[in-house]
Amino acid sequence: MLAAVLKDFNNLVLEEVPTPEPGLGEVVVRIRSCGFCATDYKAIRGIRRNVRFPLIAGHEPAGVVAAVGAGVRHFREGDEVICQPSGFCGACRHCKAGDTHYCEHAFTTGGDGPEDVRPGAFAEYMKTAETCLFHKPAGVSFDAAALTEPLSGAWKGVIQHSEMRLGDDVVVIGVGGIGLLCLMVARAAGAGRLIAIDPSAHARRNALALGATHAIDPAGEDPRRRVYEILPGGPDLVVEAAGPIEAVRLAAALRRRGTRWNVFGITTHETFELDGGLTHFLEGRMDASFGTTPLAMQKAIRLMETGLVDPVKIISHRFALRDIHQAVELMGQPGRNKVIINP
Ligand SMILES: [Zn+2]
Ligand SMILES: [Zn+2]
Repeated sequence: MLAAVLKDFNNLVLEEVPTPEPGLGEVVVRIRSCGFCATDYKAIRGIRRNVRFPLIAGHEPAGVVAAVGAGVRHFREGDEVICQPSGFCGACRHCKAGDTHYCEHAFTTGGDGPEDVRPGAFAEYMKTAETCLFHKPAGVSFDAAALTEPLSGAWKGVIQHSEMRLGDDVVVIGVGGIGLLCLMVARAAGAGRLIAIDPSAHARRNALALGATHAIDPAGEDPRRRVYEILPGGPDLVVEAAGPIEAVRLAAALRRRGTRWNVFGITTHETFELDGGLTHFLEGRMDASFGTTPLAMQKAIRLMETGLVDPVKIISHRFALRDIHQAVELMGQPGRNKVIINP
């Protein structure tokens, strides 16, 4: 099969590799669509260094079951499926508590985080465990289905961890792909005022088109003053979906009494300070959220199936697998939104 194999940083090679064979409890999926995540781009460019070569990246796949191994019960050849990139053992204390993203024996197909990194979906076929698969509803396209994992992360952060309520005034800091999904989830969940903060004019336009009531350019105006002009009572919920430490500091600065704030986007180890007494008397709540779970994946599928959220709206470009180098170039450019690979 054709695969995009990362041999070293900045050395992505399209080549023929053996098609995987399913083992016990495993399924091989013919990939139809796979999201191109910033994590993949960072691995290819050497911006993140926790990569072992060779790597087939791509951890947001959907496709058709091509072969099933012994013991597979819920899937058959020809079934249309969505793959959760993070695998779990089901037997450790975390899995038994429902926190499969804390699994002590986790693996990932094409992603990062666990020690055990298996070949991902920038390839014609990918092998994974039956427990990582979900049936794709017929009315959900493969391209939409490829965005199940990021959408599930947005649902987990905004709804499950930060418990957004109908009518909440919500601020989303950073409206790239994942921030836009957080914003769309908040819109679907009945946010009141919904404010996007992002220095990119392109991102702010996307946010307004997808349901933000206001957009703020933090480079052009004082974002805290502007938020409090729009929301004199302050926000109920602030979601940091940006990444830089300044965004976390801004989230903390936007708090009023009772504000919930979610440290969602940052993954680098940088520090920020909180005033102890102020934090005490604000009585707010800090949440965080990473990764996904089978529950969140199923919720995301339901959001798409019912039309509550259509993640296709954030897709800006699609490339065939053999044109993946063009996709890599584009990932480094401003003005793109979600990029999809169709192997
Ligand atoms: Zn990702
Ligand atoms: Zn486990």
